[in-house]
Amino acid sequence: MSNLEQTLSIIKPDAVERNLENEIKEMFKNKGFSILKEKKIKIEKSEAEKFYKVHETKPFYNDLCTYLSSGPILVMVIEKHNAVLGNRELMGATNPEDAEEGTIRKKYGISIDKNSVHGSDSIENAKIEIDFFFKD
Ligand code: UDP
Ligand code: MG
Repeated sequence: MSNLEQTLSIIKPDAVERNLENEIKEMFKNKGFSILKEKKIKIEKSEAEKFYKVHETKPFYNDLCTYLSSGPILVMVIEKHNAVLGNRELMGATNPEDAEEGTIRKKYGISIDKNSVHGSDSIENAKIEIDFFFKD
């Protein structure tokens, strides 16, 4: 089908630290996502700064980059029809307090900064973000 999409998902340090990787991966699979690629890595702060460059003018940028580089993360390419939007729906709102029942952030998010998962916000950014981690 024409709208089969791939998007980038990251299980962030707060969730990896709590050993939630498998539970979160199950949530993706239960929603019909295929996990095409995955790798567990720890990135340098300079790489986090590059990844989150779109946010460089935001007040939370420095803390965000420190945080994403603070411990291991699980980076995944996931696929499904309308994967970009579907992933954003499954993740829930940026602030776990605002996230709907049944979303990853509602279930596992600790706070607006430690919100357990990242997901690409557009098809264009999904391609850029997949290349960022998986182009070799
Ligand atoms: N973030 C934060 N404080 C804020 C807003 C965002 O610490 O006030 C962090 C949070 O970890 C979020 C990330 O910055 O996931 C990227 O922000 P964005 O607005 O892109 O949210 P997302 O796309 O992750 O829902
Ligand atoms: Mg975002």
